[in-house]
Amino acid sequence: MTSPLALLGGPKVRSRPFPSRVVLSEAAKKAGCDVLQNGALSLFLGAKGARFHGGPRVLSMEKAWAEHMGYAHAISVNSWTSGLMACVGALKLDPGDEVICAPYTMSATATAILLYGGVPVFADVEPDRFCLDPDDVERKITPRTKAIMAVHLFGGVADLDRLVAIAERHALPLIEDAAQAPGALWRGKPVGAAARGRLGLGGFSLNYHKHIHCGEGGVIVTDDDELAHHCRRIRNHGENDVDASASDDELINAIGGNYRLTEPQAAIAEVELDRLDDLLITRRTLAERFLTRLSGLPGVTATAPRPGTTHAYYAFAFTVEPDIIGCSRDDFVKAVQAELPKPEMPEDTPLVGRYVAPLYMNPVYRRRIAIGSKGWPFSEAQALQDYGPGLCPVVERLYGERLVYTPLIREPLGHEDVDDLADAIEKVAAHVHDLRAAA
Ligand SMILES: *Cc1c(COP(=O)(O)O)cnc(C)c1O
Repeated sequence: MTSPLALLGGPKVRSRPFPSRVVLSEAAKKAGCDVLQNGALSLFLGAKGARFHGGPRVLSMEKAWAEHMGYAHAISVNSWTSGLMACVGALKLDPGDEVICAPYTMSATATAILLYGGVPVFADVEPDRFCLDPDDVERKITPRTKAIMAVHLFGGVADLDRLVAIAERHALPLIEDAAQAPGALWRGKPVGAAARGRLGLGGFSLNYHKHIHCGEGGVIVTDDDELAHHCRRIRNHGENDVDASASDDELINAIGGNYRLTEPQAAIAEVELDRLDDLLITRRTLAERFLTRLSGLPGVTATAPRPGTTHAYYAFAFTVEPDIIGCSRDDFVKAVQAELPKPEMPEDTPLVGRYVAPLYMNPVYRRRIAIGSKGWPFSEAQALQDYGPGLCPVVERLYGERLVYTPLIREPLGHEDVDDLADAIEKVAAHVHDLRAAA
């Protein structure tokens, strides 16, 4: 560990590329091809009748996901963004209704609220686990609050013990954006719709970058029949599901879109589900190794999964304390990247800082212009947050100065790969003074 930093002309810790992930199992390829052979690539009909709910591959995939995840209903959608929209749509918000939401997440989490006329109220996150801070959620509940939207960021389970209790106490639906956490467990059960009955709904993403994928796709889960039916309607032009069994009351508020998953994608997503548990074991094993390697490094904090949960490790995220490590997070990350091979795909960058900017920094929020020019739906709100810097100090510090994550926590990597990454981090930590001297 005495050789100079690669950034300053020294040898890299590793130049051999990290192995790329296995993006599809052979069985999934075959399942997709079989559907292509038969040619019926989608069997949804946007009108009353059995095929309103999709063709055989869609129905079979949904059954498999519902069983695997332990929920009464799994509803496939063509992306988890569509799934979020269906979930929010199923809540039948009035314009200006408030939904308490995490700011540290992909934009779609909050956009789904705006598209249905709701107004996101951002609550801060926990400094060590990056998910919604239940105390801040409670502070932000008002008579206009209609739901809570939690995100299991990086695959770690949000504080469901408290968030579910808060949701149930206030009779507020809890939507779980578990895009990054399929198969993460809370009290031994997969996350997704943890709040009881009609209060629980949420789901997973099946886009190319997630644990398992079918190109694009998503799955909504819930135990509530009514919410499930409403999501199914929204998925497929719900206003058209006019048959003898649906009352007018069921069909109002049901305007939908085309959020339908195709048959080959459904076939792939059903088969890929079979390897989810194995992939999660690999991720957890690598994460445990990484946790051990990072523990004791001054200025570096990696937090173990919340007690009573198992983490899905979409990424391994931790924090650095610039005052203690002796340089900025961004300089630190740059120096670690220089120690490791240049990735072929940007999503395989071995170490990344920041994650996405707090959503309220986005001009849509700062200027309160989301749809049209007159500020709708913000204009409908009774009170608005001061979207912009200072709103959620913890997330701003994580984004601006402290958070670091690696996506290299997946098959087919092994301990030696994690060790190279940890060696690079240790090496840079030990040579920060050289960085400063060279600056
Ligand atoms: C990926 C992701 C989404 C969106 O999922 P898509 O399937 O890409 O539409 C939403 N929220 C989070 C937290 C995500 O990571």
